[in-house]
Amino acid sequence: MRYLILSDIHANITAFETVLEAAEGRWDKAVCLGDLVGYGPDPNEVIDRVRELPAVTIRGNHDKAVTGLANPEEFNPLAQNAVLWTREQLRPENFDYLVNLPKGPVPAGAFSIIHGALHDEDEYVFAPEQALTGLLDAPTPVVFFGHTHIQGGFTLRGEEMAILHSKPATDKRSSVLTVEPDVVYLLNPGSIGQPRDGDPRAAFAIADLENQRVEFWRLPYDIQSVQQRMAQAGLPEPLILRLTFGR
Ligand code: ZN
Repeated sequence: MRYLILSDIHANITAFETVLEAAEGRWDKAVCLGDLVGYGPDPNEVIDRVRELPAVTIRGNHDKAVTGLANPEEFNPLAQNAVLWTREQLRPENFDYLVNLPKGPVPAGAFSIIHGALHDEDEYVFAPEQALTGLLDAPTPVVFFGHTHIQGGFTLRGEEMAILHSKPATDKRSSVLTVEPDVVYLLNPGSIGQPRDGDPRAAFAIADLENQRVEFWRLPYDIQSVQQRMAQAGLPEPLILRLTFGR
């Protein structure tokens, strides 16, 4: 079974459609690691599209803030502005869909999905020391996480932990990770709608664990059209600019 691994789409339908088009025919089921909305200009379009997919979807911190499950005041002012704007846009059935999304970890095939850290969905896993508990307590040898918007991950082999750099080179669309036995993997497909690892291309992954294979993908998309819609919506300028730089 080949799984399409989606995360942090953040209401960016242009990036999301670009990903779905390129991935067509390459996957059987999908998972979505949360943060469908927040930051971007297309919350309803993205939720509609996710709902059409044969996907297992969990919630992210922005999904919680938009629906009032978390307090948006805990966000920085820019993110908070986007949360409140998104709340006004959501159609009632999409609000209901978001508010009822399950919390990770959730199993999917041979792996599990979480939004942030294994034991705390809102916690960021940037560094090896933040990944350790998740690796030691991992419910499956492969766990996919999101939240940081940084493609890559961490491995634990015996007592040895390592950082995984899996971002494809700027002139390549994808890179392949061969999954080894007796290694635990915490893998981040990267963010579709708001990458923050210095590469503005939309990020996602495709996992085929029966064949010990995970592909990490990056795709250029029409960033300017998204920025125009954000400007029309009156979303904060720094959120518009950061898409250009992938930061
Ligand atoms: Zn996010």
